[in-house]
Amino acid sequence: MDMKTTNRLTVVVSAVLALGACTFTTHPTRPERPTAMKAPVSWAEALQGPVALEWEPVVSARWKVERAGLVNLERPEAKALPRDEVDIVLPIHVLRHPTRGTFIIDTGVSQSLADGQGGGVTWPVSTFTATMKPETSLEAVLARQPAPLSGVLFTHLHLDHVLGLPDVPKGTPLYTGPGETTPTSFQNLFLRGTYANLFAGQQPTTELDVSAGVRIGEVEHAIDFFGDGSLWVIAAPGHTPGSLAFLARTANGPVLFAGDTCHTRWGWEHQVEPGTFTGDHAQNRASLAQLASLTKALPGLTVLTGHEIEPAPAVAER
Ligand SMILES: [Zn+2]
Repeated sequence: MDMKTTNRLTVVVSAVLALGACTFTTHPTRPERPTAMKAPVSWAEALQGPVALEWEPVVSARWKVERAGLVNLERPEAKALPRDEVDIVLPIHVLRHPTRGTFIIDTGVSQSLADGQGGGVTWPVSTFTATMKPETSLEAVLARQPAPLSGVLFTHLHLDHVLGLPDVPKGTPLYTGPGETTPTSFQNLFLRGTYANLFAGQQPTTELDVSAGVRIGEVEHAIDFFGDGSLWVIAAPGHTPGSLAFLARTANGPVLFAGDTCHTRWGWEHQVEPGTFTGDHAQNRASLAQLASLTKALPGLTVLTGHEIEPAPAVAER
C-alpha cells in the first residue's frame, strides 16, 4: 500500500469512527439550579418536617441478565459467585406528595411493550427487550393514581429505565442528573432510533444541577426537591455521569432509592458496585459508600436497590 492510499484509508476510518461515536439521544436538555439553602447539620434534621410521602412500589417487568453486569465479579468479595444469569425486576416507585401531586422514579415498561406492540423499540435493541416479561405497564400504574403525574424522576437514562416513556403524558417534567445524555459510544448508533421514539413529543429533560446542592454528613451533594424536606435528590455519579439516588420521608419511615449505583441486595450488603453495566467503577464505588453512610445516619432506613423490589439487608460490617 502506498503512502497516499494509507492516508486516504486513515481519513476514511477516522471519519467512520467520528460518526460512530455519538450520543444515544439528541433529545434537548435544560439545566435547573437549586435555590441556595442552608445545609441541615444531619440527615435526621434534613428529614424533619410535617410532610410524609406515600410510597407505592410496583414491579413493572421481570428480566434475566448476566450477573457479571449486575455485580463486579472481579472484586474479592464476589469471586465465589457463579457466572450465571440472574432474575431482576424493572421497578416503578410511585411517590405521592399531599399537595405537589404524583411523581414516579423511573418508568418501567409501556402498555405498548406489554402488549407485544414494540413500545417504540427498534431492531437490534428489540432483541434484548423481547426477553422481558412485562407485569404492570406504566399506563396501568398511572390510571389508578388519585392525582395526575406531576413529574418523572430518572435515576439515570439507561434503556431499562426509559421504556415506559410512551405512557408518560406529554408535557410532564422529566428530571435527570447533569450530563446524563452526553456519553458517546459506537453502540449508541444502534440506540438512537429507539430513544428518538421513546422521547418523541416529550419536554426537554430538566437536568438537576446536584453539584450545587448541599453537603449533609458523608453525602457530598443533595437537593431538597420539594423544599419541605420530604424528598432529597442525591448525586451518585459513576454508573452513569448523571446517576441520581433519592431519599424520601414516607409514612413508613425514610426510604432510600439507590438506583443502579447498586443493582442488587447482594451488592448493597457487600458494598460491591455493578460490573460491566457500570461506566466508572471507582466513582460508582465512592457514590455507593456515600449512600451506605445513610444507614448509619438514619436508623430504620429502608433501602431499595435498582433492580430488586424487596428492601436490601443492612450493610455487612467491614
Ligand atoms: Zn437498570
